[in-house]
Amino acid sequence: MCDKETSKTKELKDKLLIGNKYGIKKLSQEEIAKADAWCEDYKIFLDNSKTERDAVEYSIALLEKNGFTEYQWGKKYNAGDKVYYNNRGKALVAAVMGKKGVSEGTRLAIAHIDSPRIDLKPNPLYEANDLALFKTHYYGGIRKYQWLAMPLALHGVVSLVDGTNVKVIFGEDENEPVLCISDLLPHLAYEQVTKPLNKAFDGEDLNVLVGSRPYSDEDEGELVKLNVMSILNEKYGITEQDFLSAELCLVPTYKTRDVGFDKSLLGGYGHDDKCCAYPAVMAAIDAKETEYTAITVLCDKEETGSDGNTGMQSDFLRYFIMDLAKSEGVADYQAISRSKCLSADVNAAFDPTYASAFEGRNSSYLNRGVVISKYTGHGGKGGTSDASAEYMGEVRRMLEKNDIIWQVGELGRVDLGGGGTIAKYIANMNVDTVDLGVPVLSMHAPFEIISKIDIYMAYRAFFSFFE
Ligand code: MN
Ligand code: MN
Repeated sequence: MCDKETSKTKELKDKLLIGNKYGIKKLSQEEIAKADAWCEDYKIFLDNSKTERDAVEYSIALLEKNGFTEYQWGKKYNAGDKVYYNNRGKALVAAVMGKKGVSEGTRLAIAHIDSPRIDLKPNPLYEANDLALFKTHYYGGIRKYQWLAMPLALHGVVSLVDGTNVKVIFGEDENEPVLCISDLLPHLAYEQVTKPLNKAFDGEDLNVLVGSRPYSDEDEGELVKLNVMSILNEKYGITEQDFLSAELCLVPTYKTRDVGFDKSLLGGYGHDDKCCAYPAVMAAIDAKETEYTAITVLCDKEETGSDGNTGMQSDFLRYFIMDLAKSEGVADYQAISRSKCLSADVNAAFDPTYASAFEGRNSSYLNRGVVISKYTGHGGKGGTSDASAEYMGEVRRMLEKNDIIWQVGELGRVDLGGGGTIAKYIANMNVDTVDLGVPVLSMHAPFEIISKIDIYMAYRAFFSFFE
């Protein structure tokens, strides 16, 4: 083959095939440095947002610092006004009013701020063999063995009989004690290791060690339990009955860290889905003079199916848009139907160690940018909204125009498992919706890993979407 023909082949290849025109190689060193620097504040966000309550509190502080004020129902706002709506301290809406008002629809970026964890049962405290323990009920899809024999902190709120709500964050300060679930020693695990994984670890065995010294040397029962309760009473003013009206969650104590000799990755608890929540909040903060009203939603309960008044199956977002429409005197069903949404959630990054769980040609990879998931679901696209080709095209053009690196990805091999996001609940409102987010390694583990490039690209994607 002569040289001329070779170059023609190359030309055609470049024109027609994807080849390797993707990922970090497309970025300048300057852009990579920008991404690295941007991630420093994300680390602080993640360390302060271990539960949905923490994330709402931290995000409101961030929004207020940047000129957002609390939304007043029924008030007419002007283009450029920035507001937030706090739904019960567990979900949050942040909006930047657009020049067009809401009659032609809004732009929605929606991420969830709850992450898999271990919740206390309503009646948690007990004593067994001179140890005090908490009974727990895990929240979301965890691999139970990953939560054993590691330091845990307690986050949440206790509502007292006198009406006060006591905030609890215990175990984060390095001078404070931590809590821990014990594990069986390998020497005595001969029977356990022969069981299938789903039988080897029982939900009722996730009991948390919280104390071991008796209150006094008297000959009474339950003195270790009493001692723990007396410490909690002194610290938080609570009695055993107050656990009945509490939400207390166990989360890992450690902070977000760079991963790899090259510091290219971020390891931490709760990237799913705070690695999309933070970029979506920052996009709202940085958005200026948007055409359409830009709305970032941080929602709760995604990990347990989005039910409840702070989850995306609730009407709280619908009512918010309806109120904007009412104030502007336009039809709310039009404002909703003409809206467009990026369901900002993570996808599974291809893991070479577990390559057989993935189909390599349709998986997302670390450092190749934001991942668009046209559909999620399981078993023949069950339970997914499946974005249209036209809307995929629209999102793709927006990303290309703004030099944002992106990729498509399915969640693993067909028929191997599956999962869902909040996308379908928004699509069900007659809104064009597609999943766009960050690829994650070890998703749902207490220490998940993402790429600094990818999360920065997510921020740029939401920002461009709003602009
Ligand atoms: Mn998620
Ligand atoms: Mn998840």
